[in-house]
Amino acid sequence: MAEIKLSEMRDLTRIERIGAHSHIRGLGLDSVLEPRVSSEGMVGQTSARKAAGVIVKMVQEGKIAGRAVLLAGQPSTGKTAIAMGMAKSLGQETPFAMMAGSELFSLEMSKTEALMQAFRKAIGVKIKEETEVIEGEVVEIQIDRPAVAGAAIKTGKLTLKTTEMETVYDLGAKMIEALGKEKVQSGDVIAIDKASGKITKLGRSFSRSRDYDAMGPHTKFVQCPDGELQKRKEVVHCVTLHEIDVINSRTQGFLALFTGDTGEIRAEVREQIDTKVAEWREEGKAEIVPGVLFIDEVHMLDIECFSFLNRALENDMAPILVVATNRGITTIRGTNYKSPHGIPIDFLDRLLIISTQPYTEEEIRKILDIRTQEEDVEMSEDAKVLLTKIGTDTSLRYAINLITSAALACQKRKGKIVEMEDISRVYQLFYDVKRSTQYLMEYQSQYMF
Ligand code: ATP
Repeated sequence: MAEIKLSEMRDLTRIERIGAHSHIRGLGLDSVLEPRVSSEGMVGQTSARKAAGVIVKMVQEGKIAGRAVLLAGQPSTGKTAIAMGMAKSLGQETPFAMMAGSELFSLEMSKTEALMQAFRKAIGVKIKEETEVIEGEVVEIQIDRPAVAGAAIKTGKLTLKTTEMETVYDLGAKMIEALGKEKVQSGDVIAIDKASGKITKLGRSFSRSRDYDAMGPHTKFVQCPDGELQKRKEVVHCVTLHEIDVINSRTQGFLALFTGDTGEIRAEVREQIDTKVAEWREEGKAEIVPGVLFIDEVHMLDIECFSFLNRALENDMAPILVVATNRGITTIRGTNYKSPHGIPIDFLDRLLIISTQPYTEEEIRKILDIRTQEEDVEMSEDAKVLLTKIGTDTSLRYAINLITSAALACQKRKGKIVEMEDISRVYQLFYDVKRSTQYLMEYQSQYMF
């Protein structure tokens, strides 16, 4: 592998597979890390959120490394949501990877290889590239809602950003036409009224004002020796170490990223990649973004996995490891010993433990409100009361799952708003754990053992 391949990565779109948590946008804390009652999609669970926020802060300030967090609590008490909130509050580009302990035993690869892949999925690499811009070329145009374009312009050279690519060239031409080529200078801020197409110069904003920021952080100007201002565009690619591994693994190829069928990756491929990334870091071309790796059902890991985790956490690129379990004292897999949560004592010693508590009816109601909004489902007050009652009696996750199916039932009867009848229909159709267990007990003689 002479040159690490990156080209394929540019077009890769991240696949969002964690729909159930799409409403989580952070931990919902204020500037002094106090939890807001409901913020950034997060409701209740205040002490756990605060503790998670303190850990995030310590990680950001470099005060802790090589430590891990244990979220202990009953099912559906937001353990995954909190882990994801930690990643989100570290920044939009912070990778978040999740897996369940039981997955390790079903994959077609060794347990430690699966763990290694999970670790590398949670380590981001920001790769910077600078490209020079050809004179007169329209680079980017930003049109905000009220149709204001932040523009930095050198004669005939426009720097704008847009989400509507078809209008880029039109706007560039119109701007010169309206203002005259001579009047258009580097750092100008221009307003375009989208409705009338009228263009006005707002002033100059070469410093970091709000308008200039609207151009996006990857646009910058460099003062050249001859005094000429030349424009360079900095492009930043955000990928994970795992993505670089897969793309450069001779046996796989980048399509494996979509199928997930990556197989084992050879140690030498990883070594070469680590060396290359270290070089890029030294040259200032790359930055490591440690993310969050969430391992649910941690009691399913065996002693070999725990010793791997102990070693992996020593790496200076290690992500924050968040593990979760709802088990009490149980056997450590692969041994005859029992320990709290089935976790060996030396690993327990690394852990900062946070517990999550069951939700109140009011909190369940609020979370359900957020989810209905997130899924764009309109629901009547009565139906929400019923769904909250179901959530309290069964589980929050079960109630959340009913939102989608109730919306389908509503659609089927050509209704616009989900009513109580839709909720009760799907409640009868899909069993929650309690009813399913009851059913099994009543009819157990008819099942095979
Ligand atoms: P398990 O132990 O079964 O894995 P969990 O403790 O990880 O469960 P989650 O999966 O995080 O629970 O929660 C279930 C659902 O409720 C998810 O859709 C999650 O996003 C949502 N949720 C949980 N807690 C909160 C919260 N405090 N605020 C907003 N949404 C929440």
